[in-house]
Amino acid sequence: MSTASLDLPYETGAILAALDVPRSRVAKGANKVRSPLTGEVIAHVDHLDADATRAVVGEAHEAFLQWRRVPAPRRGELVRLFGEELRAAKDALGRLVSIEAGKIPSEGAGEVQEMIDICDFAVGLSRQLYGLTITSERPEHRMMEQWHPAGVVGVISAFNFPVAVWAWNAALALVCGDAVVWKPSEKTPLVALATIALFERAAARHCDTPPGLCGLVLGDREAGAALVADRRVPVLSATGSTAMGRVVGRAVAERFGRAILELGGNNASIVCPSADQELALRAVAFAAMGTAGQRCTTLRRLIVHESIHDAFVQRLRSVYAGVSVGNPLEGDALVGPLIDQAAYKGMQSALKQARKAGGVVHGGERHAVAGCDDAYYVRPALVLMPEQAGPVVEETFAPILYVLKYRDFDQALALQNGVPQGLSSSIFTRDLRESELFLSAIGSDCGIANVNMGPSGAEIGGAFGGEKETGGGRESGSDSWKAYMRRSTSAINYGLTMPLAQGVKFDI
Ligand code: NAD
Repeated sequence: MSTASLDLPYETGAILAALDVPRSRVAKGANKVRSPLTGEVIAHVDHLDADATRAVVGEAHEAFLQWRRVPAPRRGELVRLFGEELRAAKDALGRLVSIEAGKIPSEGAGEVQEMIDICDFAVGLSRQLYGLTITSERPEHRMMEQWHPAGVVGVISAFNFPVAVWAWNAALALVCGDAVVWKPSEKTPLVALATIALFERAAARHCDTPPGLCGLVLGDREAGAALVADRRVPVLSATGSTAMGRVVGRAVAERFGRAILELGGNNASIVCPSADQELALRAVAFAAMGTAGQRCTTLRRLIVHESIHDAFVQRLRSVYAGVSVGNPLEGDALVGPLIDQAAYKGMQSALKQARKAGGVVHGGERHAVAGCDDAYYVRPALVLMPEQAGPVVEETFAPILYVLKYRDFDQALALQNGVPQGLSSSIFTRDLRESELFLSAIGSDCGIANVNMGPSGAEIGGAFGGEKETGGGRESGSDSWKAYMRRSTSAINYGLTMPLAQGVKFDI
């Protein structure tokens, strides 16, 4: 029976059927899947336990042994075909992202576009997995460096970018000659099932693709922990909270695996006296309120020069008061729901702590949306803080923007860098010295530092990731592909003598 016969809101059943997700995978499982748009249950899926997870890794390992023999440009062809499938299914998959993660339609579609973009990038890369040749100190020798496939790459992803983050990892890993096993967020299994169904369509059009090349493990921590502990997974990419990364990073290190950690952010923007305030207002609005504050790069701290602070905050308050909150599939709301009740409680608790620490809170209350009583919509909160303390130094995954005042530039930089996280940052200024200082070695300590734009909304061409408690991983563009391969250094003697390096003598 097809999934289309399921009576699910927002054509979920029809979308799943169109994307080849069998009804048996979404109708009868023991675990409920809710849409944050309405709070209602939209599917029931089964979770895999640790043994079943290990079996998926075993299949992927077998697939890897074949896949590494396929020439990289042929591997790129599979990713190109997958990109074609994504293009054809962009509207349907984007809508499913909105239904399951609560994103506004342009962001749902944007997430799929990001998958397409990384596929394009990876296809080009499949002809450029280059090593080095290195001159040797020994006569008639040469040295070189090659990059070889690493093995099975484990991918653990968060709810807020439920498919793009997998694609960042998988598109690169596949052209690098790796197999992939994905443990998506337990909050977003449907988009994962749909994505893998699209991948299987592409695989069916590519005769070199071994079965089990892209495994899927629906499940919670138990499944995640089994993936993390498996020695057949040399590279484990984990995206989520810092608390998760602490556990996962340790477990991967314990078995000498390689972890790519993409964890929480606590991103700031500095607004300088010379800033184009109109531009800054627009950027801040999207960065702080977009995706209902549920991006790792969401703007959470705004550091404004005292000379413009009051006037800027006044303008910001009117932007906050005017922004539309609601079900983005029923109207043109710009701020959709929080993912669940726990996120709402976390937000209210942070606001309570902020008040206790002397903060003045504007907004932040629950927002009623007709027909969505079990969903958690909130007005974004703007909080004027006397100092950077308490909840300001933590990541609360909700739309709270803390505003701080600064007097001199060194103080602004100290505030910007004065939190445990180090993902993204930005500055608004027309002063060249300020912007260059911000980007310099003594400026922002984050993995991402932008000028005259917000900290969120990265493109796939650059390496993405952050420092300190954000985990240090880099994914997506630039040379991030190297994390999915193992490096082999070779020295070759094409002469008839056996000189040793560093002048060592060992004549027999
Ligand atoms: P989360 O940490 O609750 O869960 C993320 C994933 O980790 C899920 O798949 C979950 O099942 C799994 N997991 C949790 N504990 C585990 C364990 N002990 N062993 C193995 N797997 C485990 O995060 P979330 O609520 O889904 O997402 C929000 C968080 O993700 C925020 O902190 C956000 O900043 C972060 N995030 C970071 C990036 C980035 O690139 N830096 C991107 C997106 C989200």
